[in-house]
Amino acid sequence: MSLDYIRETYKVPAVLNGRVRYSGDAFQREGTIVGARNAHLEVQLDGDDFAGNYHPTWKMEYLPAQPAPCKGNCQTWIGNRSTGHIQCADCGRPKP
Ligand SMILES: [Zn+2]
Repeated sequence: MSLDYIRETYKVPAVLNGRVRYSGDAFQREGTIVGARNAHLEVQLDGDDFAGNYHPTWKMEYLPAQPAPCKGNCQTWIGNRSTGHIQCADCGRPKP
């Protein structure tokens, strides 16, 4: 079983290192997909130092991919005229 199998079977955008929000606990938690086991996702929730086994569709929400960081080489700065806040157009990092 693999993430390929899970994507096909459950029609979900499960990818390695993809971000998810899990709402099966008392409060919502976010985590990272670190693998697949027995048609279930292995997800390491933020703050945990272990991965848990989760059903791909039960209380699981798939978050959009984060923009790739510019690694300190931000090129295009965009500003919000009303707040004066300036940030990178690509990765969203505030202008230092
Ligand atoms: Zn940037």
